[in-house]
Amino acid sequence: MARYGIIADVHSNWEALTAALDKLEGVDKIICLGDMVGYGPDPNLCLDKLRQIKADCIVGNHEAVLLDFFPLTWFNDAAREAIEWTQQQISAENLAFLKTLPQTLEIDGFQGVHGSLRQPLEEYVVNLTEAWPMFEQMTRPLCFIGHAHLPFFIAQKTDGNFAGHDLADKEEVVIDYYHKMIINPGGVGQPRDHDPRAAFGIYDDKSRIFTLQRAAYDVAAVQGKMEKFGLPKKLIKRLAKGS
Ligand code: ZN
Repeated sequence: MARYGIIADVHSNWEALTAALDKLEGVDKIICLGDMVGYGPDPNLCLDKLRQIKADCIVGNHEAVLLDFFPLTWFNDAAREAIEWTQQQISAENLAFLKTLPQTLEIDGFQGVHGSLRQPLEEYVVNLTEAWPMFEQMTRPLCFIGHAHLPFFIAQKTDGNFAGHDLADKEEVVIDYYHKMIINPGGVGQPRDHDPRAAFGIYDDKSRIFTLQRAAYDVAAVQGKMEKFGLPKKLIKRLAKGS
């Protein structure tokens, strides 16, 4: 029985990561659902911290491109520029760490994957059409995902019907109300639900309740570093809008 901090899509955003970890102080374990790097200005600070706190991390599509599992051409211009910059910055220790990471994880009563169980690094799951095959593949009643940078849940009820909606700050989801449940805690380092605050959550394995959390952080400080390093303007602007 434990309390887990569930984070995803940190994207080299140190200020957002530390704001999230402050709110997760006291949890037993941090679970990080991929895309630790890409887009943002602090890949090494973020990875050093995740290693130091022994977070259970999996790879996302940005790590896959960084590690050359996937070609650079797979990305749009802004994402590609940022990952090329990251490739030049990343320390040997952090590169070695990323190479050890799995694509999926299974802990206690839940699973975790960046995209989907069908395509861990590629597929976006945001609606029932995409969630349906995942419910079939899930070996546990609960699976956490990232990739979309949007906080929501999609659940299969015991009567075979479905439920789900976007999750607001402090909103709770009781896992046992449902037969199977997919939860995206939202994005820490580049939220896309028009709320610039970092999104993440706490999962209590005893009460089996997930609680969404938001944390404000110094967006301007991150934007300033991105400007200094010449990262794409589009990526700088979107942080302030959370889109
Ligand atoms: Zn991402």
